[in-house]
Amino acid sequence: MSVSFWWRPLGALGLLSVLPLVLWAAAGALPALALLAILLLFYLFHHLRNLKALAFWLRKPDVGTVPDGSGLWEEVFSVLYQLERRQTDSQKNLSSALERFQSAAEAMPDGIVMLNSSDQIEWCNPLAEVQFGLNLKRDRGQWMNYLIRQAQFTDYLAAHNYREPLIFKSSRNPGLVLSIQLIPFGDEQKLLISRDITHIERVETMRRDFVANVSHELSTPLTVVGGFLETLVDMEHLDGAHTRHYLGLMLDQTTRMQHLVKDLLTLSKLESMLTAHREEKIDMPRLLGQLSVEAQSLSGGRHQVLLDLSSERWLLGNEDELRSAFGNLVSNAVRYTPEGGEIVLKWEEWEGEGVFSVQDSGIGIEPQHIPRLTERFYRVDRSRSRETGGTGLGLAIAKHALTRHQARLEIESVPGKGSTFSTCFPARRLIAGQADN
Ligand code: ADP
Repeated sequence: MSVSFWWRPLGALGLLSVLPLVLWAAAGALPALALLAILLLFYLFHHLRNLKALAFWLRKPDVGTVPDGSGLWEEVFSVLYQLERRQTDSQKNLSSALERFQSAAEAMPDGIVMLNSSDQIEWCNPLAEVQFGLNLKRDRGQWMNYLIRQAQFTDYLAAHNYREPLIFKSSRNPGLVLSIQLIPFGDEQKLLISRDITHIERVETMRRDFVANVSHELSTPLTVVGGFLETLVDMEHLDGAHTRHYLGLMLDQTTRMQHLVKDLLTLSKLESMLTAHREEKIDMPRLLGQLSVEAQSLSGGRHQVLLDLSSERWLLGNEDELRSAFGNLVSNAVRYTPEGGEIVLKWEEWEGEGVFSVQDSGIGIEPQHIPRLTERFYRVDRSRSRETGGTGLGLAIAKHALTRHQARLEIESVPGKGSTFSTCFPARRLIAGQADN
């Protein structure tokens, strides 16, 4: 404590003694001592009063209620005021930093749960509440493995080997697939980060199914061809008729594989073309005329093929892609319509859109199959598709090509009566026909 501190109390005591000293000289020692005692009592009372104010304030310290003091106490209270003010400021800074951290954690695209050394929940962000079905207010302090009772999760938590993430399918949230990673930090605490990978898992399942389907589709004809080749090798006396018969059957299977590989290549080309395709003015009446001739040759006279050109407009798009899409619809109509049936190819304008449709009087499709028809390898009747040379990829190709033209595919069908596949193009793709050009 500095020397200047002592000047005040000593000065005050000196002042207090002046009057008793004067009284001593005038009236003797007794009244002087009595006066000194009274003055000292006042001085003591002044300190006690300030001490009481300090004790009171200390019970509920606040920067706005620091007591006013005089003399020595003035300095004490001013120091306290400064201390309290600094503390309030640093508390404000701390809580605003905490708020910023919380809002950053809340904005994170991943779920975050903070666990203590006993795996009890200390805090979690709203996304984690949704993903794990938690409620922070209710579940704070609960054991995480008590709330998530799935064995794979409790094993992961207990294993203490957090290098690899856990792929977790929540039973509380069916259909949701999470990648969970635990990160130890601080004093045996853990940060649990959960990422929604449902979409990635779906794509991965599709990829696995696709590879399995392709392998299966190729293995069947290969087995047939291999079987015939073995038979031919084993036959001692090959006559021309037998050989031709077997070679013919092998040719059929080879053609089937060729179709499959051609469709796979078309699909992969459509999928890998990230950049915009080359757009040209497509003469729709001419293209549909060609498709109708192709339909007739595919039908071999078994069906009546009609062409209805209600519009003469041309279309802005990629001719190769659309020819392949329309070709698949036309060939399906021929393949799924029994002999004597009718197939109508129609080009019209409907509510501003350009609509190309293929209507057949064929076997039709049960309603539950319709939403899945454009999935790769989805077939209503697998053997019928194969017998007629189908690969199960035609509508998937058509859907891809149409999507690249912002067009939609609409399917209407009545089992036993027939189907209509319509492709609807936005108005901005319709352009004037040659006559108007
Ligand atoms: P596929 O090569 O098997 O014909 P697609 O992708 O072209 O493959 O068609 C998928 C399935 O949709 C077919 O297997 C068939 O069951 C059904 N389908 C497609 N077009 C028609 C149609 N015009 N009439 C009846 N069923 C159809």
